[in-house]
Amino acid sequence: SYLRPEGARAITLAIGNFKGGVSKTTTAMVMAQGLSLRGHKVLVVDADPQGSLTTLFGIMPDTEVTEDQTIAPLVYGDTTTIKPSIQSTYWDGIDLVAASSSLFSAEFVLPSRQMKDPEFQFWDVLNLGLEDVRDDYDVIIIDTPPSLSYVTINAFMAADGLMVPLPPNALDFASSAQFWSLFSDLASNLVESAGISKTFDFIHVLLARVDSADVASDVVRSWISATYAEKVLPVEIPKTAVTSSSSAEFGTVYDISRYDGSMKTYSRARDAYDRVNDLVEISIRSSWNA
Ligand code: ADP
Ligand code: MG
Repeated sequence: SYLRPEGARAITLAIGNFKGGVSKTTTAMVMAQGLSLRGHKVLVVDADPQGSLTTLFGIMPDTEVTEDQTIAPLVYGDTTTIKPSIQSTYWDGIDLVAASSSLFSAEFVLPSRQMKDPEFQFWDVLNLGLEDVRDDYDVIIIDTPPSLSYVTINAFMAADGLMVPLPPNALDFASSAQFWSLFSDLASNLVESAGISKTFDFIHVLLARVDSADVASDVVRSWISATYAEKVLPVEIPKTAVTSSSSAEFGTVYDISRYDGSMKTYSRARDAYDRVNDLVEISIRSSWNA
């Protein structure tokens, strides 16, 4: 079985790509559900001030989320543990740290704390905040904003693995290349300025929202495999109606009782996410055993 071995701690997975609209949030939610159905206890952390993941879980960021249900108290230094920010969700086996627009201020607070206190490590806040709950979960999934923000850096620093959703079209491919070069600049800056070297146990590029009618896909797919080689997962998430409406409100590919659309696209999308979770579980297991 792939279940967490005695004494092993949660594996943290950041979903990242500096481009918006590439299926990060959808993938975070659907993967979390698939992993929970396999018996994993999952914590999802919405680190995007836009709160899209929170919304998908049926909670309105602007009206139903208080600041202490988000990572804001960690960012402000009011606490050093994420534990009090956790709430349960409509989905058995998935807990949530929500987001709201109050997280936008993190982008000012983190550097100003750093300025006031040279010992403070702005990149390590989320990582340290999660320490307290790494024995309570099998998998922690962090959804990140579509930018290289201080919060995004925190998510990467907290993560064992990185999942990069990437639709195979030319513009998304081009910005993913920027993502990698910014990311490696960032990593080498951290090494230089703080002696931090960040490596991931695994990095997966996931072809997502793949439109079989898009004539450019094959060309872009070949660029992607030439560039990212073995990082590219051998499975693609099709563009389907059930995936585009995936949410607590409308049901997801793992939520058949609520789904009233075409059975065919439903099972195509579910099979694809099942394959992704098969592969991610293999990575998770090898991190546990490392
Ligand atoms: P991101 O978090 O990267 O901004 P989202 O997950 O919010 O991306 O997805 C962007 C849009 O694309 C949303 O409207 C979402 O419903 C839709 N979408 C994502 N994945 C799929 C898919 N496989 N099929 C159809 N629509 C999708
Ligand atoms: Mg998103």
